[in-house]
Order: sequence, then structure tokens, then C-alpha cells
Amino acid sequence: MAETINVTIWNEYRHEKTNDKVREIYPNGIHAAIGEGLDSRHNITYAVLDDPEHGLSEEVLNKTDVLLWWGHMAHGDVSDEIVERVYNRVLKGMGLIVLHSGHFSKIFKKLMGTSCDLKWREANEKERIWVVNPGHPIVDGIGEYIELQEEEMYGEHFDIPQPDELVMVSWFEGGEVFRSGCCYTRGAGKVFYFRPGHETHPTYYNADVRKVIANAIGWAAPVKRDYPRYGHAVPSLEPIKGRG
Ligand code: ZN
Repeated sequence: MAETINVTIWNEYRHEKTNDKVREIYPNGIHAAIGEGLDSRHNITYAVLDDPEHGLSEEVLNKTDVLLWWGHMAHGDVSDEIVERVYNRVLKGMGLIVLHSGHFSKIFKKLMGTSCDLKWREANEKERIWVVNPGHPIVDGIGEYIELQEEEMYGEHFDIPQPDELVMVSWFEGGEVFRSGCCYTRGAGKVFYFRPGHETHPTYYNADVRKVIANAIGWAAPVKRDYPRYGHAVPSLEPIKGRG
């Protein structure tokens, strides 16, 4: 049996408290619905914005293999100190999965180095998320596409660096397309951006969406090896004769 992966699910957890429709869909929060989609391979910790240190203490982060991030209305309330802490953990090998409106989070923008801006529209339209990288582990068990009957639209251009691997592309009923499943490495860490998951739609109950998230956790989990050594490389591994 595969080893257990320590997963921390971070949610801003504000819409659920202030919007009846969102609370109806996600009565225990988006984080709880995402967690319900995982299984015994995952050892889950929940963390929300209003927890002390946003639930992301050094202790929590140091034992996190993969961090999931859902944020939207309160990106600015996330402290720069915690962003720096998450950033350094990613460089050291922690996986990060950024969901939906997390595209505009401080941590994602810092890791990407671009504006991460996009087009959007809330019109309850159909989304078809096409698999464009069929051998990729993140789409293990997924058909040609995932169809969501109603979602918010995100459209190109999406101002991200060229993904290391593009796994999925969305088509929307209104005509736009969007790079919906994007893989990056940053330092020793792996980062996956996964588009669907607007708070007024029941997206995180969709079996395929849950499968992609579970697959992405497996992909993003750190490998077991020491962090690289940097800096002055003395003494040398082999004797150097030198010249003159
Ligand atoms: Zn949204």
C-alpha cells in the first residue's frame, strides 16, 4: 500500500459565512467538501484564513506534503509573512495545488511572477474540461473530458508563465477557452493550478473533479531526497591537478 500523504486543505472560508447560496452548497465549508473527496491515503489537516497564523504555522507546514489553496474575496488579508513561509516550503519540496480563484492569491502570483489576470463571467454556463495530455498521472481514470453543467467562465488570455505541462483545457458555452490544468516546478516543489470550483456551484462534489484533485496530490507529493546543497563546493569530490 502506498504511503499516506499529509494534505493540508486551506480555505479562505468567508463566502460560506456571508452568502446563503454558498452556505447551502457547502454547509461545512469548501474545504470540508474537498476533504470528503479524498480517502484513506490522505491524512488531512484543515486550515482557514481566520485561524491563528491562517492555520499555517511552521509546525503545520513542515509536516505538510501537499497544500491545497482556495481563496477569493480576501486574498489581501493573507499576511505576507505566511505567504513567504508557504513560498519557502514550496521551494523546499512541498506540493501546492491552487484551486479556481486562487489564481489571484498572493502565493500563486509570487510563484508565477506574472499578473495571473484573466477574463471571467458568472452566467451559469456549461464547461467542458478537455484532457490534452492523456498520459499524465493527473488525468488517470478521467475520460476525454469532464463536463460541468454550470460554472463560472474563466477565459484566455490567462497571464501565467507557459506551463511546464498543460494537462487540461476548458471550453465554455459562451465561446471562450482556458488553460485549466497547469503544472509547474518551483525549486524542489511542484505546483498545479486547477480551474473549476466557483463557490456558487457544487463543483467539489463532482466525482471527476475529486479524482483530478486526488491525482494531483499524488503527483505533487514530494520525492524523498535531501534538499540540494548550494554554495561554495570545497573540497572537490575529485582531486584537481590545477594549472600552474
Ligand atoms: Zn469564482
